[in-house]
Amino acid sequence: MAVSKFHPAESIMEAYNEGQRLFGENHVQELMQKQQILPADIEWHFIGHLQSNKVKYIVPFVSLIHSVDTEKLLGTIDAQAEKCGRVVECLLEIHVAQEETKYGFDFDSAKELLESGRLNALKNVSVVGIMGMSSITDDESQVRREFASLSSFYRSMKESVAPQFRELSMGMSGDYHIAIEEGSTIIRLGTTIFGARQY
Ligand SMILES: *Cc1c(COP(=O)(O)O)cnc(C)c1O
Repeated sequence: MAVSKFHPAESIMEAYNEGQRLFGENHVQELMQKQQILPADIEWHFIGHLQSNKVKYIVPFVSLIHSVDTEKLLGTIDAQAEKCGRVVECLLEIHVAQEETKYGFDFDSAKELLESGRLNALKNVSVVGIMGMSSITDDESQVRREFASLSSFYRSMKESVAPQFRELSMGMSGDYHIAIEEGSTIIRLGTTIFGARQY
């Protein structure tokens, strides 16, 4: 996935003209503005922290939400998706990094939710995998351990209660080589594709 946050529509069009169709954004307003002016065959993924009151703006067109970090948010997405007659695919964001500030489920609460059967009541969301971010560190062995733990959780859920799982979203510009080796199915690349972001 090309992570186009903070990059202008012109940069997205440059990548589009080279054949890229999958783009990821992490702010609702920025995503909406870009979606309105850019080609309709772009597949948009949402990868940032999502506030409940903004769900309704992206649910009509987003194809995968990577960053579902609470059960309540999943319920909100389900309700909004029902209103527009869609089934929206989602990933559970799992917190494995050392930083305190990152959002997400821990393994135990994600497992409890997946095993509970409560997701069956949500007819308009489909949880198709998990997403995770590694710690910000130069210690490659730690990054590898974190990705390996995500991968092992993903496989164990897929083999037991979540046979529908098909996406393991992990790896960014600095660590995607390791993520691929550990079984990632979607790497999320911003800087590698577009260069440094201007905040
Ligand atoms: C910004 C962002 C990326 C891309 O980061 P780069 O290091 O520029 O590749 C990937 N995933 C998420 C969730 C992001 O917010």
